[in-house]
Amino acid sequence: MGGSEEVKRYIIKRRSVHILRHKAWRIRQVFWRKHRFSQISDNMKTKQGIFITATDTHIGKTVVTLALGVLLQKKGFNLGVMKPVQCGGRDALFLKESLKIKDPLRLVNPFFAKDFLSPHIAFKRAKRKIDKKKIIDAYHELQRRHDIVLLEGAGGLMVPITENYLVADLIRDLDLEIIIVSRLGLGTINHTLLTIQQARDFGIPIRGIIFSVSNDKKFGFPERTNPQIIKKLGGIAIIGTIPYLEKIDRKTILKKCASKINLRILLEAPRDSKDSKTQQLGLWDKKYLWHPFTQMKDWLKSEPLIMDEAKDCYLMDTQGRRYLDGVSSLWVNIHGHRRKEIDAAIKRQINKVSHSTFLGLSNTPAIELAKRLVEIAPKGLRKVFYSDNGSTAVEAAIKIAYQYWQNVGKKEKAKIVYFENSYHGDTLGSVSVGGIDLFHKVYRNLTFEAIKTTSPYLKGFENILEKFSSSIAAVIVEPLIQAAAGMLLWPKGMLRRMRELTKSHDIFLIADEVATAFGRTGKMFACEHEGVTPDLMCLAKGMTGGYLPLAATLTTQRVFEGFMFDYKDQKTFFHGHTYTGNPLACAAALANLDIFEKEKTLKRLQPKIKFLDKSLKRFYNLAHVNEVRQLGFMVGIELVKNKKTKEPYAWEEKIGVKVCQEVRKAGLILRPLGNVIVLMPPLAIEIEELKKILEITYRAIERITEKK
Ligand code: PMP
Repeated sequence: MGGSEEVKRYIIKRRSVHILRHKAWRIRQVFWRKHRFSQISDNMKTKQGIFITATDTHIGKTVVTLALGVLLQKKGFNLGVMKPVQCGGRDALFLKESLKIKDPLRLVNPFFAKDFLSPHIAFKRAKRKIDKKKIIDAYHELQRRHDIVLLEGAGGLMVPITENYLVADLIRDLDLEIIIVSRLGLGTINHTLLTIQQARDFGIPIRGIIFSVSNDKKFGFPERTNPQIIKKLGGIAIIGTIPYLEKIDRKTILKKCASKINLRILLEAPRDSKDSKTQQLGLWDKKYLWHPFTQMKDWLKSEPLIMDEAKDCYLMDTQGRRYLDGVSSLWVNIHGHRRKEIDAAIKRQINKVSHSTFLGLSNTPAIELAKRLVEIAPKGLRKVFYSDNGSTAVEAAIKIAYQYWQNVGKKEKAKIVYFENSYHGDTLGSVSVGGIDLFHKVYRNLTFEAIKTTSPYLKGFENILEKFSSSIAAVIVEPLIQAAAGMLLWPKGMLRRMRELTKSHDIFLIADEVATAFGRTGKMFACEHEGVTPDLMCLAKGMTGGYLPLAATLTTQRVFEGFMFDYKDQKTFFHGHTYTGNPLACAAALANLDIFEKEKTLKRLQPKIKFLDKSLKRFYNLAHVNEVRQLGFMVGIELVKNKKTKEPYAWEEKIGVKVCQEVRKAGLILRPLGNVIVLMPPLAIEIEELKKILEITYRAIERITEKK
C-alpha cells in the first residue's frame, strides 16, 4: 500500500510540475505573442497604403487582397480596402463584405463601369469620366480612417485608366509602393520581370512579390523554382505564396495562408534607416563638397538639407519630408519634377545614344530641337549654337559678336556695353559684363574691359552709343528684368528703345534670356513683350524643363554669315564644349516644348499670374516690405530695415537667409538674393500650392522681421 501512496504522491507531484510548466509555457506564449504584436505595432503600424498590382489580369489579385486583409485584421490592424477603378464583376463589393469593411462604397470603389473591358473603354461606353482627384481624395479619406489601406489595381501597371493615364500613373500620383501578384508556372518569369522593370521605369517602389496558385493539380519544376529565380534576377523580396483555396473564406485563409505569407516583408518598406542615411550623407557632404555661392564656414556648422526625390512641385529630403519647390530648383523647373513625358524622352534617348560629339558630327535630337527653337524664337533668329549653361551661352554670344566684326574687317568695333546691376554668369567673359559688385568686383583684374552704363536711365545709355558707336560690338541686356540683382524691372518700352538705338548705330543687341525664357515672364520669351528680335539670344535654365544642363545661343542669318569664309582664312568660330548638343539634354528639351504645346502651358499660366499679382499686394501690409516686384512668375520681395527711410538691412544681418530658413520649417524651399526674397515657382504649380507658398512666405517675413 505504502508503495501505491508513494506512486500517488509521485503522480501528484509530476502533475503539479506539469501544470506549473504548462502555466509557465502559457505565460511565455502570451508574452511572446504580445511582444511580437507590439513589435509589429511599433514598427509597422504607421499609416500606410499598399497598392496590389499583377503581371496580368485574372492572376488572383482579389484573392490575394482578401487573404492579406484577413491576415492583417487577425493581427489587429484597422484595415481599409479600395478598388479605385472597377470594370465588370463585383470585386470591390466582395472585398468590402468579406472583410466587413464599414466604409461607404463611394470610398471603396469610387469608379465602377459594368463592362469587363479596359477602363479607358469601359468608362467611355458608360459615358463616365474618371476623375483622378476624386480617387486621390477618397484614398486620403481612407488613409485617415485606417492603419493600413490595401488598394487593388485594375489589370497590370500599363492598363490605361484613360487614354493618357495609366494605372502606373495613378500609383505615382497616390505616392504608393506596390506588391506584384504573379502566378506560378511556365512563362511567369518573363511577365514578372517585365512588371518589375516597368515599375522601376516609373519610379514606383516594389515591396515584394506574392505568388498566387490557381490550380492545385499542377505543381512541377517551374512552380517550385519560380520564386527563387525571380528573387535573384529581379532583386525583389518574395512575400510568399497564396496556395490554391477550394473555399475562399476567413477560416480557410487563416488555416492555409498564415504560414505562407511573411507579413514583416509586406509591412516594412525596404528602405535604409532614414536617420542613419541622412547622418552619413551629411558627414560625407561636409567632408568632400564645396557648394556654389555658399560660405562654407557657415555650411560646415549647419545641418545640410539633402534632397533625395521629387514629384510635381515638391522636393523630398532623405528623411521623407516634403517641400514646395518655390524657386523651381534655381529657376529651371517648368512642368514639375518627374514629368513622365520628359522622363520617357530621356529614357528613349538613352536606348539610342547618350552622347556623340557635335564637333564634325550631328545628332537627331539636336537637329530637331534647333528647328523647334528657331520656329518659336522671335522672328529673324535663324541659327542655334549649343553649349551647356547660362554662362557659356553668354560667352558664346560675346565671342560671336566680337569675332563677327573682326571677321568682316571692322576691327575697331570691339567693345561690349553692359548695364549696372546686370548678371550674365560666372565664367570670366560673363563676369566681364557683370554689373553686381558683390559677385564681380574681386575678379576685375582677370576680366576684359567693357563699357558699363547705368540703368535704367536712358540718357546715359544713349550718350554712350552716340559717343562710342564705332568702337562698340554689342550691347548685352537681360530683357525686361534684371533677375539676379533682385528682380529689378526695366521701365516699359526700354527694351524696344534699346533695339532701335542699337540698330541705328549698327551695334548688336544680345538678349540674355537665360532666366526669362520658357514662359517665366508669361510669354515664351521676354523679348516678345516688346516685339523685339535681338541679334543674339542666350537660352539655358528652363530649356530642358529643369532636367539637364543645356544652353543655346541663337543668332540671325547676318551674324551667321559673318563667319562664312574659306577654310584657309581661319575665321571659323573656334569655340565649343565637349558636351555640345548632348542628345539626352536635347531630347529632354524637345519633350519640354511638347508639353508647352500639349498642355497650353502659357495660356494656363495667365490666371495664375493674375492671382499672384492680386495676392502679392497684401505683402505691403508687412512693416519691412519696401517693394514687391513681379513680372509673370518672377517675383522679388524687397525687405528693408526702415520702410520710411528705406534704410536697407546690413549684409551681416542675413535677413533674406533667415526668412528662407524659416519657410523651410513650413515645407517650402526658397533662396534669397540678398535682402530680396525670390518666388519663382514651376509654371505647372496649382493655385492652391501658390496660396500655400504665399501664406508661408508672408508668415515667415512677419516672424523674422517683426518678431511676431
Ligand atoms: N544669365 C542670367 C540672366 C542669369 O540669370 C544666369 C543665372 N542666374 C546666368 C546668365 C548664368 O547661368 P548659369 O548659372 O547656368 O551659368
